[in-house]
Amino acid sequence: MNTKEPYQVILYYQYVPIESPEQFSKEHLYFCKRIHLKGRILVSHEGINGTVSGKKENIERYMEYMRSHPLFPGIQFKIDPHDGHAFKKMHVRPRKELVAWNLDPEVDIDPNRITGRHVSPKEFHQLLQQDDVIIIDGRNDYEYDLGHFRGAIRPELQTTREFPKWVRENLSDFKDKKILTYCTGGIRCEKLSGFLLKEGFQDVVQLDGGIVTYGKDSEVQGDLFEGSCYVFDDRISVPINHVQPTVITTCHHCGTKADQYTNCQNALCDQRHIVCPKCLEEHQGYCSATCKEGK
Ligand SMILES: [Zn+2]
Ligand SMILES: [Zn+2]
Repeated sequence: MNTKEPYQVILYYQYVPIESPEQFSKEHLYFCKRIHLKGRILVSHEGINGTVSGKKENIERYMEYMRSHPLFPGIQFKIDPHDGHAFKKMHVRPRKELVAWNLDPEVDIDPNRITGRHVSPKEFHQLLQQDDVIIIDGRNDYEYDLGHFRGAIRPELQTTREFPKWVRENLSDFKDKKILTYCTGGIRCEKLSGFLLKEGFQDVVQLDGGIVTYGKDSEVQGDLFEGSCYVFDDRISVPINHVQPTVITTCHHCGTKADQYTNCQNALCDQRHIVCPKCLEEHQGYCSATCKEGK
């Protein structure tokens, strides 16, 4: 008999006005702790964005609570089985923005008013194979490096707040093209696609539910995604392509194919690097001999 209790990791967001993010956060944290969840939830005046782990029964209780909450009817959850918690603590934090775009108030996007057309994994899969489309990865460079859709443009940025400038400098000539946007779970594209429309791009679509939903879709099964998907929990990366899985990154130390990031154990360095299981043990998570010696 399998005595191990099943755990799940869920990912979700909803853009919806929340009047008092501070008060909401306090009450929400209390509830999450009471049902023994761990994870990270951000709450702002514009909505909620969360990823939490817990025992299956508690995750189900949480989803039921959210679905019956007056603010979140129709909220969508991406659910992954896991062998334990994917986080060490439970945080619910009030924030100015759900994603740090830092857009000026006059150009800020309300996705409930303007956003790109949502397309299903199946339609996105078809669009990916057209040669007259521009595919934009709506994430950061290190996420792209671990895995991305074939043919997607790599954004040269380390934080989302650099996106508007990057778009203006690099994509201005493509305003009449069909633009495909995607990100991990969909939240970043809600604003990115809205921003592109506002900038004058004519035809902008976004992958509904993001890469993780695309990987679970029974028809496309992650086809045309290369590498694996960076996630912001202890798993670090998850497989997406179940048709033809590939590893596109190599170990920082020995050069063999590997797809796990770790941060250098030397706190002063903290460099994010890819490491294979063998080298992780051998170098104990340090990126170099210098860092290991504590210099
Ligand atoms: Zn290695
Ligand atoms: Zn280092």
